[in-house]
Amino acid sequence: MVIDLHTHTTASDGTDTPEQLIAAAGAAGIDVLGVTDHDTTAGWDAAVQARPSELSIIRGAEFSCVYWESDQRRVGLHLLGYLFDPEEDSLRLARRELRASRRERGRRMVENMIADGLPITWERVSELAEGGAVGRPHLGRALVEAGVVPDVGSAFGQLLSSRTKYYVRKTDLDVFAAIKLIRGAGGLTVFAHPLARRRGPVVDDAVIAKMADAGLVGLEVEHPDHDPADRIHAAGLATELNLVRTGSSDYHGTNKATPLGACTTSSEMLERLLAMPSALQPVSGPR
Ligand code: AMP
Ligand code: FE
Ligand code: FE
Ligand code: ZN
Repeated sequence: MVIDLHTHTTASDGTDTPEQLIAAAGAAGIDVLGVTDHDTTAGWDAAVQARPSELSIIRGAEFSCVYWESDQRRVGLHLLGYLFDPEEDSLRLARRELRASRRERGRRMVENMIADGLPITWERVSELAEGGAVGRPHLGRALVEAGVVPDVGSAFGQLLSSRTKYYVRKTDLDVFAAIKLIRGAGGLTVFAHPLARRRGPVVDDAVIAKMADAGLVGLEVEHPDHDPADRIHAAGLATELNLVRTGSSDYHGTNKATPLGACTTSSEMLERLLAMPSALQPVSGPR
């Protein structure tokens, strides 16, 4: 069983439509696929419609959150919410606000770039986002099209990272509030790429323990942004805190180099996750 629990589509910052993602998953030999766009469930229905009998789909989303250290240092972190009720009001409202903030922030970053003479327009970025949740990769693609950088990865290094003068912060959920919101909607929360230091500061083990106390059920141990030492550390911590260990590619189509199935979850861990009560079930079986 090949289980990849974290992927993106054009509903957020992936480049495959949900249908293309499903086709790519088939070609990559994936048996169980998590569809987890940033702050939206908009890709779910098309993915489920396109599903062949042999592929199971786990519906989820990735939520951008923040943890404030005692010295007021801000740490950004991502939670995966799986199998929550998409109609539940509080979480639905939160997703809508997060997407609105993504648009506003994208627009402001584009303005900062225009003011500096970069050939980018909000119209083009908005077109590239196709009505989905706007992310910095959409700005990256516009910059690639304009010939400013060769690829989206280089755009991150030079123009999009939080260390650049163009960067604008978006609204994120407080991580403990987010765990409660997702749980309140019947979802299961897994901490995505907890040790991905390349993106910025990460929280320490004590914070992860507090998150577990608040209802976190899993840690994404196997992830392309984790080096071997990170994976060993995260796996040990998950065992210590009795958290499910997941693994996933965080596939974004051509916005990132990572292929589907680059990191995977074991059947045993998926069983543990699915044994927990949740609002939705995986979509699987003959059709
Ligand atoms: P945002 O959600 O708008 O803050 O942008 C963060 C997103 O950018 C992440 O979810 C990744 O999809 C993407 N990203 C971050 N770093 C890189 C990178 N070095 N190369 C390509 N994509 C990246
Ligand atoms: Fe992303
Ligand atoms: Fe993420
Ligand atoms: Zn992701």
